Amino acid sequence: MFGILGTRTLEACPGKGYDVEDLLIANLRLPSGEGTNLGIHGTRLVDPDALERPRVIDADGLMAMPGLVDLHTHLREPSPFPAETIATGTAAAARGGFTAVFAMANTDPVTDTAAAVRHIRDLATGQSADVIPVGAITRGLNGAELSDITGMHSVGVTHFSDDGRCVMDAGLMRQALVEVGAFGGVIAQHCQDHNLAGAQACVPESTDETFWPWSAEATIVARDVQLALDTGAHVHICHISTAESVDVVRWAKARGIPVTAEATPHHLLLGSDLLRSGDTRFKVNPPLRSDDDRQAVRQALADRTIDVVGTDHAPHLPADKQKPFPDAKPGMVGLEWALGVVIETMVTTGLLDWAGVADRMSEAPARIGQISESQGRPLVPGQPATLVLIDPTRRAVVDKDTAVTLGRNNPYDGMNLPDPVLATFWAGRLTYDNGLISAS
Ligand SMILES: [Zn+2]
Repeated sequence: MFGILGTRTLEACPGKGYDVEDLLIANLRLPSGEGTNLGIHGTRLVDPDALERPRVIDADGLMAMPGLVDLHTHLREPSPFPAETIATGTAAAARGGFTAVFAMANTDPVTDTAAAVRHIRDLATGQSADVIPVGAITRGLNGAELSDITGMHSVGVTHFSDDGRCVMDAGLMRQALVEVGAFGGVIAQHCQDHNLAGAQACVPESTDETFWPWSAEATIVARDVQLALDTGAHVHICHISTAESVDVVRWAKARGIPVTAEATPHHLLLGSDLLRSGDTRFKVNPPLRSDDDRQAVRQALADRTIDVVGTDHAPHLPADKQKPFPDAKPGMVGLEWALGVVIETMVTTGLLDWAGVADRMSEAPARIGQISESQGRPLVPGQPATLVLIDPTRRAVVDKDTAVTLGRNNPYDGMNLPDPVLATFWAGRLTYDNGLISAS
């Protein structure tokens, strides 16, 4: 592991970023396989020949991808007891190669008004990634009464979710889709029928009250794709975990229903066998699943039944994980290892090429999140200098204690994984650098 803590100079320190002088990064490889040189001037990519006296960095065959976009991040701020802040969460995002994160609404207070949206944008100003507030579907996530969807849309919100909870009332969900559909927005659903898998449910194979059956997910997916067909509004299925849910989405897409879906890094890599240890790091909603489910999710991400990787980065305070398994909070961190896990599960296995990685982790999420004017752009002159430089062969042993996120609920701790990110630029600002840029 390179020494984030040992080299905490401005340049090597993750977070916030700084504007770079004119740069020419030579000998890069694009996800398409083409070679290129990139010029950076101000916030934009420019023709390298147009730069007068740039600093030149020989990338020696490293790859450049458009900055990654995460539709599913829990930044945990505002909160009276924050397990993460917008500053640390966006710094972790930059460390993972992300230049935009969608901040889920289940903060305290909940993001359910235009004022709450503005507050998050204020907190995010000057931080290390573009933070796009997600609006709550229901007031205070109460599942009973719609939030001020129109008011939030008036300040630019297009993406709505009660994530952490499922909108159980089908009538309310339909009404939300009608409201959001009127301006072409998206409802992202946390698919978990709480009558089949209650608040404490956490394991797929148990027979007690902690049972979380696959049907608790697939029945809500099935219901919501029918509501999408009914209303014409866009439903995005969060964190798909089972083969049966994948089948429903495949069925819906074949009929042209406006549905998209996401897979998490942890459901791509980790299996329910890890739950036998009783280690609460592995408690997550939906739970880690069988090997068959994992293969189905990977296959679906490869064939675009699942459109995007969303991290569901969910840091928790240690006290909330140091509890008996049924009482521990569900969720795990993910931003810093998402790309490494996708390389391990999708690229190394031959399921996805690099252009596919750029699509599932940058271009497609930017499109679904309706930010594709600034994110997920091709890396050519005139476009924003929003990109990540990676070494696809680089690996490291994950150490939760040197991570940038404040969350120590790290399911990858101790694992040897691809650790590809060398530098991240967001609109010309260097938001993460492991030394590649500063040392050159
Ligand atoms: Zn969720």
